[in-house]
Amino acid sequence: MAQSSPMKIALVGIGKIARDQHVPSIAASPDWQLAATVSRNHSINGTESFRDVETMLEARPDIEVVSLCMPPASRFAYAIASIAAGRHVMLEKPPGATISECLQLKAKAQEARVSIFATWHSRQAPQVAAAKMWLKDKRLHRLSVTWKEDVRRWHPGQDWIWEPGGFGVFDPGINALSILTEIVPDPVQLKGALLQFPANRQTPIAASLTFRHPHADDVCALFDWGEEGDQIWTIEAETSEGHMLLSGGGAELAIDGNKLPTPDQSGDPLNGEYPRLYARMAELVRTGAIDMDIAPLALVADAMLLGRRIAVEPFYA
Ligand code: NAP
Repeated sequence: MAQSSPMKIALVGIGKIARDQHVPSIAASPDWQLAATVSRNHSINGTESFRDVETMLEARPDIEVVSLCMPPASRFAYAIASIAAGRHVMLEKPPGATISECLQLKAKAQEARVSIFATWHSRQAPQVAAAKMWLKDKRLHRLSVTWKEDVRRWHPGQDWIWEPGGFGVFDPGINALSILTEIVPDPVQLKGALLQFPANRQTPIAASLTFRHPHADDVCALFDWGEEGDQIWTIEAETSEGHMLLSGGGAELAIDGNKLPTPDQSGDPLNGEYPRLYARMAELVRTGAIDMDIAPLALVADAMLLGRRIAVEPFYA
């Protein structure tokens, strides 16, 4: 339910995702008013813009919420400054570059009595909740995640993804892990990983992971950034009561080969992954709550800790 007057929010890091999703989702919602942007090189027409977060926090005490959309490696400093200034914080995925950053952010938010939200947009994809419901009472035998996409198509000009803290293929892969950790009833643990690093880069271009599960024999994930053909974002599960295929990054669901109707979200500006994230943020602020689930990030960290690393041919954009 929307409150009577919209909350003022600042967007920090005006890049692809801020323009594609955050700005339109805020504009469509009665909960929010975009009051300022913070970005070193970019701005949004008609919105007051700042080049650094400290100046914005000082100049605009009326802004209650700060939404951080820049790449993860630089997010912690902005989040800490916002919390210290008593603002609620919304974090793009992944919520930070490390686990310890995220734990500290949560502790600082608790101390300051502000809300913090580690968002996972893929969990809001149309059929994720239905997949979770379907799996809830089934015995899982096998599960495989396949996330194969073309890095040149989805990340043109983004050098940060290849730098330390840029996540490489785990930038999309963590979306798959956010769905996995949401829909599988018993938590998985990382068992092993094989990570392929281009010889000239600091982050992996491909990864295959295996997981332990209380009763499934085979739970695995394959992430590959070299797919130039059909882009594949699927989670496939064999259970005691049939086969589930969640495809299109969570947009489509089929049980035993029969596709379930997808909720039509095309005409509703308050529906969709990002509008739902902003509705949830509004609820967290209203109720004084924190939502800081870092399970997907923990699996990525575990893969980096346990993974066997192999060098592959250099990558040039
Ligand atoms: P982007 O377009 O490359 O960058 C976003 C903006 O962040 C940049 O325009 C830059 O603005 C600012 N920025 C970059 N490095 C910074 C730094 N070191 N310190 C401060 N600000 C910095 O990236 P993006 O694709 O929007 O992705 C940003 C985040 O959103 C990532 O965590 C990504 O995983 C997530 N995400 C992206 C997508 C997508 O489709 N692209 C989808 C879902 C989630 P200024 O130079 O003006 O400061």
